[in-house]
Amino acid sequence: MISVVGLRKSYGSHEVLKGIDLSLLRGEVVALIGPSGSGKSTLIRCLNMMETPSQGVVSFRQQDVGDRFRDTGDKIGIGTLRRHVGMVFQHFNLFPHKTVLQNVTEGPIVVCGRPRQEADALAMDLLNQVGLVDKHAAYPNHLSGGQKQRVAIARALAMEPEVLLLDEVTSALDPELVGEVLAVIKRLGEGGMTMAIVTHEMSFAAEVSSRVLFLDHGIIAQEGRPDDIILNPQNERLRSFVSRFK
Ligand code: ATP
Ligand code: MG
Repeated sequence: MISVVGLRKSYGSHEVLKGIDLSLLRGEVVALIGPSGSGKSTLIRCLNMMETPSQGVVSFRQQDVGDRFRDTGDKIGIGTLRRHVGMVFQHFNLFPHKTVLQNVTEGPIVVCGRPRQEADALAMDLLNQVGLVDKHAAYPNHLSGGQKQRVAIARALAMEPEVLLLDEVTSALDPELVGEVLAVIKRLGEGGMTMAIVTHEMSFAAEVSSRVLFLDHGIIAQEGRPDDIILNPQNERLRSFVSRFK
């Protein structure tokens, strides 16, 4: 579905990603774990070209992604890639002056040109899925962090993405609000959504993912089934990392 080959990324002389090969298959949920600064966010941001790789190629549906916004020749443009690859961040970045419903319908109406009625119906369905129908007329500053994050997920889903990238979507939340957001993500995975999830929630990663990647100093140091990587890590560095989050 989406892949990178030979991905390297440097900021100045600091090489953050040192040759990453990764393929995300349709319906797969991949968890990215690793120490702070290991390059998880940089990697996930390269997957939708929010960061430009220094080397290596991103491809989507087996077509290379070019460096232009528009499709050119045999290359997919960054615009097309982002249209199909949704992203949710640690900080929700909702539009504060728009209601919950307007936040969710903005993309479909403005980017996809969908009629308002149709966009409203889709948005209400998504808000129902994330348990927030009754908040559709509220403004973001009247919501809890967990509710805001669920709106952000509904907003990403409103673009009907084929892949969803999630970067530490629960780390800005109070502990008691984490569960409601993780439950939404888990249901999405069970529904067949293809996802790459950066998380420090080890038990969640083990539960939701089909594959876990342990990023360390800009390389994929370990990769495997959650049982092997998280529940029963063999490598000492991985074991000490995982045990800190248990
Ligand atoms: P965390 O768990 O703390 O979120 P991470 O694994 O997501 O960490 P990244 O955010 O990918 O790590 O950062 C990897 C390295 O790249 C860090 O050393 C960081 O300082 C550096 N870095 C990230 N973005 C930039 C940038 N825009 N300019 C310069 N350096 C950057
Ligand atoms: Mg990060």
